[in-house]
Amino acid sequence: MISILDLKREYLELKGEIDAAIERVLTSGGFIGGPEVAALEDDLAAYLGVPYVVSCGSGTDALAIALRAMGIGPGDEVITTPFTFVATIEAIQHAGARPVLVDIDPQTYNLNPDLLEPVLSPRSKAILPVHLYGQVAPMQAILAFAQKHGLQVLEDAAQAIGARYYPDQPAAQPHAHAGTLGHAAGFSLYPSKNLGAYGDGGFITTHSEAIAQESRLLANHGSRERYHHLRAAGYTSRLDAMQAAILRVKLPHLEAWNARRRQIAARYTQALKGYVQTPCEMPYALHVYHQYTIRHPERDRLAAHLRQQGIGSSIHYPVPVHLQPAYRGLAPAGSLPAAEAAAREVLSLPMHPFLEEAEVEAVVRAVQSYA
Ligand SMILES: *Cc1c(COP(=O)(O)O)cnc(C)c1O
Repeated sequence: MISILDLKREYLELKGEIDAAIERVLTSGGFIGGPEVAALEDDLAAYLGVPYVVSCGSGTDALAIALRAMGIGPGDEVITTPFTFVATIEAIQHAGARPVLVDIDPQTYNLNPDLLEPVLSPRSKAILPVHLYGQVAPMQAILAFAQKHGLQVLEDAAQAIGARYYPDQPAAQPHAHAGTLGHAAGFSLYPSKNLGAYGDGGFITTHSEAIAQESRLLANHGSRERYHHLRAAGYTSRLDAMQAAILRVKLPHLEAWNARRRQIAARYTQALKGYVQTPCEMPYALHVYHQYTIRHPERDRLAAHLRQQGIGSSIHYPVPVHLQPAYRGLAPAGSLPAAEAAAREVLSLPMHPFLEEAEVEAVVRAVQSYA
């Protein structure tokens, strides 16, 4: 079986370094925060080109804490997409605000900025675009709209670490990273993400010292000094030293891993164009293919055919948020047609940097052989 993801191969490749990093933490006797976590935050800030990185317990927490640190709370509305992992919506609710959904662009599956105007209200306070599958949302239009209407922008960069954005000059250097374009961003370090820990983790990026300080306070019981609490309803949301040490081994490999993802994606697209709808790469962004997601009107039959051929696949996402039992109140069925159609037709193929050429070709042949 060629599975959609294989984390064992990555570990085996880095085993010596990772085992040494874990042992270093075990013998240090410090498990939460500390020098490994501070060093990882510095490494991430340098890599992404952003002044502040605040680590926390998960990507979901990163988004919720960032929203609160941006001053978003009860009575506020945050505009986002229905075609995302549910955490995006949960984060808005944890901050006490109301999610307002706008439909997606059927080509990129990212939030469609032309649909922002009709949902704008006096309660609108922020836009939360998701860089879905590793491709940056159309930030130029989103940021322009936000600026015009006095909204803040929080990027959900959980799937897009290493993605770049270059709206004006594709050739210009350096390219801005996804997660450095708005007022703040939330990243996930969940094991399956392009940079994954061996457990849960996440972090916030921002150019704002105030947002960074407030986030750090909220993530640690509203406290800067032990047993002195400056904010109510804080969180226990911190990164383990062990995860930080593991991530410091992995971060230097991220660019090469993302390049390998892009190489596999290029082969898939070249071979599968005409058989299925292949992902659309926008000229303004460097896609890092957290998922390689195709589209086909007989998606479920295609997935069954692939399974018979020993090829795994997965659906991101089978049910848009507003059709989930927990979220029926957010928008009526039929009101977000592009997201609803995508949910019926998308299928993610095996994609990770440790796929071998023969496996890539086996995936290609299996998709091509679907009649
Ligand atoms: C993974 C993910 C999250 C949540 O991250 P966790 O670390 O699992 O909490 C949020 N948004 C998107 C789009 C994701 O893919």
